[in-house]
Amino acid sequence: KAPVITLDGPGGVGKGTISGLLAKRFNWHYLDSGALYRLAALAAMNHGVDFSNESALSVIAEHLDIQFKQQEDAVVILLEGDDVTRQIRSEEVGSNASRVAAFSRVRDALLKRQRAFRTEPGLIADGRDMGTVVFPDAPLKVFMTASAEERAHRRLKQLQDGGVVATYEKVLQDIEERDDRDRNRSVAPLVPAEDAVVVDTTDKNIDAVLDEVLSLVAD
Ligand code: C5P
Repeated sequence: KAPVITLDGPGGVGKGTISGLLAKRFNWHYLDSGALYRLAALAAMNHGVDFSNESALSVIAEHLDIQFKQQEDAVVILLEGDDVTRQIRSEEVGSNASRVAAFSRVRDALLKRQRAFRTEPGLIADGRDMGTVVFPDAPLKVFMTASAEERAHRRLKQLQDGGVVATYEKVLQDIEERDDRDRNRSVAPLVPAEDAVVVDTTDKNIDAVLDEVLSLVAD
């Protein structure tokens, strides 16, 4: 089996940034599992599926027609042939993603797709349950944390850099609501795996976090 490093943690903690840097450094594959939940949510929105209808949502997840296309330095994400790379990053899609992600049948439907990313030379897997459910045998599991306030600042900056108008209060509220739903759901709740190393990133910049993770890889 190809090696895998899991990076889990709440929204806005910087997993995507760190995962991307690690994947580039090792030249490994990168699984953005949150994108799969976001794509399932967007497909459900496009097809007018009710967000309380678990069986319809699981059918959507099972039959997702998606492609991740590497274009120069960026990945372009297609849903049913349309470029949705930017659209799936909206707070609306993120919030709906956390609703579809609370259903076990939706999670089951996405499990095989996620495991298929594990090919040579290796995989950096970014999400909420990479270490607990999807890759429980991963030799290195990292769980990143930061205060909700710090994550709201980071998310706000990311949104503003992308040209999105947002306020700190609204972003913080969204983060807290999503945390609440992700931590308290009955299936795959957001908790560190027993054998995960917890990295608190609150007062650290990207370089410091990357160094800390790299030192774990070296061990
Ligand atoms: O990480 P991201 O914000 O893209 O994830 C969107 C939502 O998808 C999360 O709030 C969470 O509910 C869900 N998710 C999940 N399991 C994962 C990745 C994401 O439940 N492995």
